[in-house]
Amino acid sequence: MLSTDLFRVPCPTCGSQMRFSPEKQQLSCDHCGNTQAIPFTKNKLEERPLHGYQVENQQLPNAPMEEKRVFECPNCGARTTVNADLPTITCAFCGTKNVNPEAKNTRLIEPAGVLPFRISREQAIERFKSWVGDDLLAPSDLKAGARPDNFRGIYIPFWTFDAQAYSNWQGEAGFYYNVTIQVPDGKGGTMNQQEQRVRWEPRSGSHSSFYDDILIMASKQLAGQEGTVAEASSYNLTDVVDYDPRFLLGWDAEVYSIDLSDSARRAESTIRAREENACASELGGNVQRGLRVSTQLSNQTFKHILLPLWICAYVYNGKAYQFLVNGQTGRIAGERPKSAWKIALLVIGFILLVLFFYAISKK
Ligand SMILES: [Zn+2]
Ligand SMILES: [Zn+2]
Repeated sequence: MLSTDLFRVPCPTCGSQMRFSPEKQQLSCDHCGNTQAIPFTKNKLEERPLHGYQVENQQLPNAPMEEKRVFECPNCGARTTVNADLPTITCAFCGTKNVNPEAKNTRLIEPAGVLPFRISREQAIERFKSWVGDDLLAPSDLKAGARPDNFRGIYIPFWTFDAQAYSNWQGEAGFYYNVTIQVPDGKGGTMNQQEQRVRWEPRSGSHSSFYDDILIMASKQLAGQEGTVAEASSYNLTDVVDYDPRFLLGWDAEVYSIDLSDSARRAESTIRAREENACASELGGNVQRGLRVSTQLSNQTFKHILLPLWICAYVYNGKAYQFLVNGQTGRIAGERPKSAWKIALLVIGFILLVLFFYAISKK
C-alpha cells in the first residue's frame, strides 16, 4: 500500500495539488478545475477475524498495517495524519497553527474502508446556519458569528465489529392476579378488597442473533462529547468503499487513539447488554426475577474505517461551543448558545401567564 507520506497527486494540467471534492466525488484541482476519477470499489473491504488476536495482551492483529506520518498537536494532543510536507499544520481540533511541524512515522492498522466526504464546506455552513437559526432561544447575532474558517472537515477513525451471539437464559416470570380478601371495615365488621398477587413461573430458553457493524469511535479527542458524536454519527455504512489514501487528499484525518482491544471490549459489552434485553423480553411476564443470561460470542470480526465529520469550534460571548456536522448526511449535533435575554423574556412571560390564570381563578 502506498504510504500517505508525501502522497501527492499533482494536477496533470497545472501541477497544483489535487484534492478530493465532495461535490464532484472525484479528485479536483482548485486552481484550474481539472478533475480525475477515483474508483469507488468494495473489493478489499473485508472483515478481519478478532480471534488469533489476543484482546488481553494488546498484540496487533493479523491485518494490513501502514506507516503513516503522524502529527501530534502540542496544544491538545490530537493525532492526525500528514498527507504532505506542509510548512504549517493547523490542528483540526483546537485550531492551533504549528509552523514547521514535526511528524513521526507510526505503524498503524490500515483502514479497510473510508466513507468519502459528501457534504462540502459550503453545505456544512448552510446546514449550520439554518440549524442555529431554527432555535428560537438562540441569540440574534449567533447566525452572523458562524465564521467559515472554523469549519474543519476531518476523517474520524472508527472500529466496527460483527459477532454471532448465542445466549442461554433462565429466570422467573411473574404474572399478576387478583384475590379477594376480607379486611376490617373500621365499623367492627369486614369488607371485601381486591389484592394483587404474583404467580411466579420458572422459564428458560435460548436466543441467538447476529450483530452487524457495531460502531465504536476510536478518537480520544472526541470521547469527551460522546453523546454529541453519537447524535451526529448516524452514518449509512453501505456507502463505505475500499480505503484509498486519495480520498483523504485535502482533508484532515485523525489516527485512532482508542485501540482495537479497548474498542473490542466495548463492542462486546454492547452486544451482551443487547442480548440480556432480548432474553428479558423472551422471559416475559409482568415482572421478572433471577434472570441469568450466559452469552457465547463466535465469528467475531472487525474493520477499521474512516468516517467524515465537520468539526466547528465556535466562541460566543467568551464561551466555546463545538458543533459537529455529519460529512455524509449533513446531520448536525451540538450545543446551541441560548440568549439570556430571550430566556428572561420567556420566564417573565410564563410568570405573567401564571399570574393571569391565578387572577381569573380568584373571580
Ligand atoms: Zn490544475
Ligand atoms: Zn490541537
